[in-house]
Amino acid sequence: MPTYSYRCTECDNAFDIQQALSDDSLTECPACKGKLRKLFNTVGVTFNGSGFYRTDSRKSSGGESKSSSSSSSS
Ligand SMILES: [Zn+2]
Repeated sequence: MPTYSYRCTECDNAFDIQQALSDDSLTECPACKGKLRKLFNTVGVTFNGSGFYRTDSRKSSGGESKSSSSSSSS
């Protein structure tokens, strides 16, 4: 099931919820009954401010071969 992100336009309450495609979109904030705004489903990737999300924690030490082959074929 896809996860959708909603944000209240009244109290700025943001949350994610799993919904089936057949389910209706939420329109009411569960906190203040305000108007909800559907965000794009950026599942897994949330770039809020500084996107510091890198998975290459392991630095491969070793001589990296210089790629001298420049593609200059015209
Ligand atoms: Zn609200």
